[in-house]
Amino acid sequence: MSLETQDTVAQTLSDTLAAQRAAFAQDPASSIEQRINRLNRLHNAILDYKDRLIAAVDTDFSGRAAAETEILEILPVLEGIAYNKKNVKRWAKQSRRHAPLMLFGSQTKVHYQPVGVIGIVVPWNFPIFLGLSPLVGAMTAGNRAMIKTSEFAPQTGELIKEMIESTFSADEVTVHTGGVEVATEFTKLPFDHLVFTGSTGVGKIVMRAAAENLTPVTLELGGKSPAIIHDDFPIEEAAKRIAFGKGLNAGQVCVSPDYILVARAKISAFTAAFEKAMAGQYPTLRDNSDYTAIITERQQERLEANLADAREKGATIREINPKGEGFDGTRKMAMHVVTDVTDEMRIMQEEIFGPILPVVPYDTLDEAIAYVNARPRPLALYYFDWDKARGEHMLNATHSGGVCINDVMTQVAVDDMPFGGVGPSGMGHYHGKEGFLNFSKAKGVVRKGRFNPTSYIQQPWGNRMYNAYMRFQYRRYRKIG
Ligand code: NAD
Repeated sequence: MSLETQDTVAQTLSDTLAAQRAAFAQDPASSIEQRINRLNRLHNAILDYKDRLIAAVDTDFSGRAAAETEILEILPVLEGIAYNKKNVKRWAKQSRRHAPLMLFGSQTKVHYQPVGVIGIVVPWNFPIFLGLSPLVGAMTAGNRAMIKTSEFAPQTGELIKEMIESTFSADEVTVHTGGVEVATEFTKLPFDHLVFTGSTGVGKIVMRAAAENLTPVTLELGGKSPAIIHDDFPIEEAAKRIAFGKGLNAGQVCVSPDYILVARAKISAFTAAFEKAMAGQYPTLRDNSDYTAIITERQQERLEANLADAREKGATIREINPKGEGFDGTRKMAMHVVTDVTDEMRIMQEEIFGPILPVVPYDTLDEAIAYVNARPRPLALYYFDWDKARGEHMLNATHSGGVCINDVMTQVAVDDMPFGGVGPSGMGHYHGKEGFLNFSKAKGVVRKGRFNPTSYIQQPWGNRMYNAYMRFQYRRYRKIG
């Protein structure tokens, strides 16, 4: 992009933000009816565009199952809209709070106020859900929004732009397509809040850009989400549940199980069961429309290079390709189970984000926990164990953005729970009530009445009332301690 074009992009983005800000200033409170009206418009637009959106994602991936786009993108946005519509009135209600003795007689409450304009940066792997789900949260909280789509899902980006333009005015919501140059200008804008979903590396760049404006950020990042299978858990059942999740989007999911920790004696039972489950789900690969392709050649090369690196460093790699098909001329890639892995291998250092599954042995559960805790805090942790007490122990002993016990990935489908990472896997939450709170300013408000208790204990300090008040308070504090 030439400097001149870059300036034009920056100007257009900045003008759009200014127009949204001006509209927000005219209508800063946004009634519940207006929020529901916007959610309804989005709901109807998604229903109208559903088939075209599914086709656009299929084109961008050069092959993704319509069912995956429906279950993992369309339905979750529609569910989120329905859930937020039902609850927005309750969430937006001012909440009464307890006043200290010094403010006796005052009213104290928290006022949840829209912040203004939210910026939303979207990755390629779920180009509908990860653009529209933050939008649902932003609109529920009464905000306006600008969305930057991913350059690696261009058809979907253009269609979402068309859908939003035909549904909202430019001072309510806009969509901006384009590559890194556009993203760079976009994240420099002084938004009232910025939601970035993408890699941890780019997350740091985005947070740096936001810091210039002191724009609060929600970072939805990636990482290596482990699955730990307890020795007592039926290994075939665990393998089946993991295969369902790992097969989705061919592993190109932020909460995909990244590596599996299995009791040493069960390693081969697990790999055999996983292979059987995958072959059952995908009896063929190359022309199987249920099995998603890798989004770009670059991603495919990255995955192949990581496999080669593991092979060179001594890993054992099994390709799950029931018919032994070749994939030349396609971006399909078989699932690979990798054993005999070491920390020196790239697959054990970087997020996998594709059809590769390293399996790591452990000798004791404490060792498995220590393995997870010695690494960056992941976005998700999966634990397979029917024993509830051990499950609770796992929750306390590890840190992760979310947890699913006895399954993988389904924690994302719960609207009534926060979604977000911790440390290098992200910060801030959205979905449901936490999303509403994330995109609102919780403003503490004290309303004093005619009676003014502070007037009895104000300057000159040391007066009779002040001394009595202090004696009373310290007596209280001594009892509390
Ligand atoms: P990415 O970080 O490469 O790109 C994400 C977005 O950032 C794109 O819109 C891109 O245009 C923009 N971008 C790229 N460079 C930028 C820059 N220098 N400044 C500002 N913006 C820039 O990520 P990706 O490859 O699209 O997605 C894969 C990653 O996203 C994985 O790490 C995955 O775990 C993560 N992810 C996280 C979640 C979650 O909810 N936590 C969901 C999906 C994906």
